[in-house]
Amino acid sequence: MYYVGVDVGGTNLVAGLMNEDCEILDKASHPVDHSQTPEQLCGEIVRLAKQVCQSGGVTEKEVRAVGIGLPGQVNNKTGIVVRTPNMPFQNTPVRQLFQRQWDMPVFLGNDADCAAIGEYRSGSAKGCSPAVTVTLGTGIGAGMVVDGKLFTGFAGSGMEVGHMIIHPNGHLCGCGNRGCWEQYGSASALIQMTLREMECSRDSLLWQLCGGDRSKVQGRTVFQAARQGDETAHRVLYSYRSGVAIGLINLVNILQPEVICMGGGVSNADDDLLLDPVRELVRQGSFDKTMPTRLVRASLGNDAGVVGAAMLCDSI
Ligand code: BGC
Ligand code: ZN
Repeated sequence: MYYVGVDVGGTNLVAGLMNEDCEILDKASHPVDHSQTPEQLCGEIVRLAKQVCQSGGVTEKEVRAVGIGLPGQVNNKTGIVVRTPNMPFQNTPVRQLFQRQWDMPVFLGNDADCAAIGEYRSGSAKGCSPAVTVTLGTGIGAGMVVDGKLFTGFAGSGMEVGHMIIHPNGHLCGCGNRGCWEQYGSASALIQMTLREMECSRDSLLWQLCGGDRSKVQGRTVFQAARQGDETAHRVLYSYRSGVAIGLINLVNILQPEVICMGGGVSNADDDLLLDPVRELVRQGSFDKTMPTRLVRASLGNDAGVVGAAMLCDSI
């Protein structure tokens, strides 16, 4: 049997054909056109899903199910995508729209939940329970697999950890609340923090690295400057790490997972600048000082979402 997973991101749709060993046999992607209607986007999803089957030489009958991961509030029970902050889905019956064009079993999941399933099935969290995967990107997404099954909460919005409030009256978040974790620990938060510090440090190497153009500052710029000994970059990273750690401490104290996998581009930073010091902060801040939870880097990179989406049918 084969599985198809589609990862719907803010910039790209990626579909993958997978075998039972979680090996991706074929992949296809297409840029997201934000002017398209939800119906048209669903049409693109169907087209890409069919395309990978065809190019992989697999017939419809050999496909067990299609899984779709989306960046927002998704309810697999109803088949409805309730809302996606960066995409036009709003109470969109994605399963129904898909099945109108291709009559297949369709499973829906949140993008971060899919990444968590992917890491559990074939990445850094393989076989662990509970296994949490946290993705530091534009926002912060997370998912948790317990005894092989995804924990989604009652209506699909459990584990929205990016919106746990860590600062009363803190920065305004896209969700409408203030002080959410993703305003302090996401890759976008790192960029915002860097820009703020740069304003007070005109002689920082960061200015040189971005060629004087603030819009060129990326997460990796800060790590690059820090590696070259830039004080401003080190100051930014000092507060960024505590921003990341505070949410992780809360997760460890509430869930005590066996493992937390850290994903997203930012988590590829050098260990001594991010993961090692964050591990130490989490150990100091967690209730159980023996800190049995392992904090590791996710290993599937961008494929986690596709693998996890494909495996939704066996995980929920
Ligand atoms: C959204 C999550 C999503 C995450 C990563 C958050 O802002 O609330 O649903 O998983 O960003 O895309
Ligand atoms: Zn929020």
